[in-house]
Amino acid sequence: MRGARVHNLKNIDVDLPRNALVVFTGISGSGKSSLAFGTLFAESQRRYLDSVSPYARRLIDQVGEPDVDAIDGLPPAVALQQQRGTPSARSSVGSVTTISNGLRMLYSRAGNYPRGQKMLYADSFSPNTPEGACPRCHGIGRVFEVTEKLLVPDDTKTIRERAVAAWPPAWQGQNLRDILVSLGHDIDKPWKKLPRKTRDWILFTDETPVVPVYAGFDLDEAREAKEHDASPSYMGTFASARRYVLHSFATTQSHRTKKRVSQFMQISECPDCNGKKLKRESLSVKFTGLDIGELSQLTLTELARRLRDAANTKPSARDLHREKAIVAQRIASDILARVEALTTLGLGYLSLERSTPTLSPGELQRLRLATQIRSQLFGVVYVLDEPSAGLHPADTKALLGALDELKQAGNSLFVVEHHVSVIRHADWIVDIGPDAGTHGGEVIYSGPLDGLRDVEESHTARYLFGHEASESTSAATLAKSIATQSGRPKVSTTSTAAGAPRQPTGWLKLEQIERNNLQSLDVEFPLGVLTTVTGVSGSGKSSLVSQALVELVSETLGQKKAVEAPNGEVDLLERELETTTGGRIVAGMKHVRRLVTVDQKPIGRTPRSNLATYTGLFDHVRKLFASTRKAKARRYDVGRFSFNVAKGRCPNCEGAGFVSVELLFLPSVYTPCPVCRGQRYNEKTLEITYRDKNIAEVLDLTVESAHAFFAEEASVLRALDALLQVGLGYLRLGQPATELSGGEAQRIKLATELQRAQRGDTLYVLDEPTTGLHPADVSMLMSQLNGLVDAGNTVIMVEHDMQVAISSDWIIDIGPGAGDEGGLVVAQGPPAKVASSKASRTAPFLFS
Ligand code: ADP
Ligand code: ADP
Ligand code: ZN
Ligand code: ZN
Repeated sequence: MRGARVHNLKNIDVDLPRNALVVFTGISGSGKSSLAFGTLFAESQRRYLDSVSPYARRLIDQVGEPDVDAIDGLPPAVALQQQRGTPSARSSVGSVTTISNGLRMLYSRAGNYPRGQKMLYADSFSPNTPEGACPRCHGIGRVFEVTEKLLVPDDTKTIRERAVAAWPPAWQGQNLRDILVSLGHDIDKPWKKLPRKTRDWILFTDETPVVPVYAGFDLDEAREAKEHDASPSYMGTFASARRYVLHSFATTQSHRTKKRVSQFMQISECPDCNGKKLKRESLSVKFTGLDIGELSQLTLTELARRLRDAANTKPSARDLHREKAIVAQRIASDILARVEALTTLGLGYLSLERSTPTLSPGELQRLRLATQIRSQLFGVVYVLDEPSAGLHPADTKALLGALDELKQAGNSLFVVEHHVSVIRHADWIVDIGPDAGTHGGEVIYSGPLDGLRDVEESHTARYLFGHEASESTSAATLAKSIATQSGRPKVSTTSTAAGAPRQPTGWLKLEQIERNNLQSLDVEFPLGVLTTVTGVSGSGKSSLVSQALVELVSETLGQKKAVEAPNGEVDLLERELETTTGGRIVAGMKHVRRLVTVDQKPIGRTPRSNLATYTGLFDHVRKLFASTRKAKARRYDVGRFSFNVAKGRCPNCEGAGFVSVELLFLPSVYTPCPVCRGQRYNEKTLEITYRDKNIAEVLDLTVESAHAFFAEEASVLRALDALLQVGLGYLRLGQPATELSGGEAQRIKLATELQRAQRGDTLYVLDEPTTGLHPADVSMLMSQLNGLVDAGNTVIMVEHDMQVAISSDWIIDIGPGAGDEGGLVVAQGPPAKVASSKASRTAPFLFS
């Protein structure tokens, strides 16, 4: 590869071996993804797309043409990238792995049919086909219902007083009431006094009569007008409350409408198929005594056991259904091989029907990896980001085995990784850096692992071979050394847990927790210290910490959980299917006043939110601009300097700075706005300067240069200091939220917390905060978290990184196994104590 300039890459050249495991290393923001995904994968995809029809091209998410001079010898690439945040499509483990297809074939060809029933085609076992879907719920497994109680919450009201609350507000609602008047109904009687028949018709009828409407007339006037054939104000169409609610929910484009009408609906399990989504005949076919719905609910481990039995049963010569038995054996062994690829990768606790949005990004990636192993492709390059994410060290071996298998099948692997055991397994290392953003983007080293030892400026080398490797229990030591060596401002660390663990100031006690695989679990979290919850994948860590703990605490604090899906959509199905937490908090809440969950989800979904707006720093900057003499003379207020407010922004791009150009058959491309040339503001606004820079130029400053520029403005400096502390000095103030990595988003959230006045009563909850972080970044993260604890707060996190676990004050190890074999507290206490536990599968990796 020659001359790559994507994002922060500095016109770099690199030669990579094929048929090898190439691992890209470097600190967060150094440019690893820009190289592996942004350049190599993007270019491979572009070339592939050049060879397909424009129509097919449109169906593929295109990543755009990378800025690179030349790449020779590039194989076709398959990206197995982790989607952080929200996988939107509603798919399941069975569909993603295509194992469900196999099962349908198995039931169709080798299932046990009730006497006299005709054989069904495989399609009949899919809820997504008309042949298979339960006719009552159309294959959803749930039915939507409206009841009088929901539609008319207060039956003492009259129709005029909007007894039918479900009807639309404003003009449309008025229209429906006028129609009822025309139809001869009394809209001034309390709802409950109306005859049953009338009430049912208004709420539930499917009829949609079109009637003359006399706007504003009362019952008598309307009757008279109709008798005299007076010409009506207009003709109106009636819709019952039920029709309106169900129709709007299904068809509206507006989030607000959808949210509004969803309050009037309820969902329950379909009584015909009991939530199994299939028609009765399909459910009557059994395999090992179970229908296909029941089989899909088994854990993969249990499914494998049953398939193994079927695959090993040799059909006897006298068997009446010999042919069927042979077919059953064939199909079962094929499915078994695919299920085993999943159980080997530590996913045996999942079931086929588990929906993908409930999986972690790491689990989803491993699902797809296992599917690829069975695909028998060769000559391709697989590009992966951090496949070790979410994996307990005990499971990492299986992952390396899977990567080796793909390589042996004749493929190349490009992997972005931070995990030492994966790095050590690499045939070739490409270390990017030396630092992040503009201070990175260069190839520090490219070659076999051993050669990295002598590369002084490499953080990775220092971590793998240097003195930090032996002393790395002290996260703060490393953080300090990195902060000074890379010219970042020094990280302040007053204490670390590595020496003597801190003493808890109290206990948060939870009792009888019920959630997923947790059954009536009692657990105590120490307050005022840093706790790591460990355990193999699927043992129940997230169920305990990110789900049960977060829900119970926020409930107690009265912070209500939003019912919105993460993508902002109201997803009634998901909401209703959500498992609820059983159990309660019995002690300790008097020490917790605030709950903050710090995750890697984007800080905003549009380019309109950025670093400066999210941290609140931009409010102060706008105040500074509004208080300049020229702004005052022109009466420009703070709103003038917001690109989200019409008066100050560029009218052409409405403050976005770019415009999208729609191209037929190609993805739309964004180009800088021709009017403001990407500056987002109108000419008049840009005439105002603060210390010789206009507002657009200020947004273009990096955090580092802004720190010097605003040296005398304490209010702005506070946020900038916090951002520097978490190592984000290289980001531009106006950097759109959409351009930030998960790790960067997480650190911005932490920085926002750090600049708050500390009251010492906050509970911070983090789920695998080190995902995507280089060991050097992990040290920085740890010193931030230690800072929060030193200020009197509590930190509880789920982690697989053993260095993190060792340097925390307290460990709670969940297990012993995954799924049904987990869900218990196996060991707890200071790291040294947990390390000596015989039962814990984590213990051998602590201090090893
Ligand atoms: P890494 O994978 O090493 O963490 P990335 O390749 O994601 O680093 O990012 C390298 C640099 O490029 C960072 O400064 C990041 O903020 C920037 N960057 C990432 N994505 C984009 C983008 N879509 N547009 C512009 N800059 C980006
Ligand atoms: P960990 O965080 O330790 O990897 P989890 O708490 O995610 O484990 O999972 C514990 C168990 O609960 C597993 O058997 C998993 O399949 C199950 N589980 C987790 N989330 C859900 C969910 N949303 N729906 C159904 N089962 C779930
Ligand atoms: Zn049904
Ligand atoms: Zn513009």
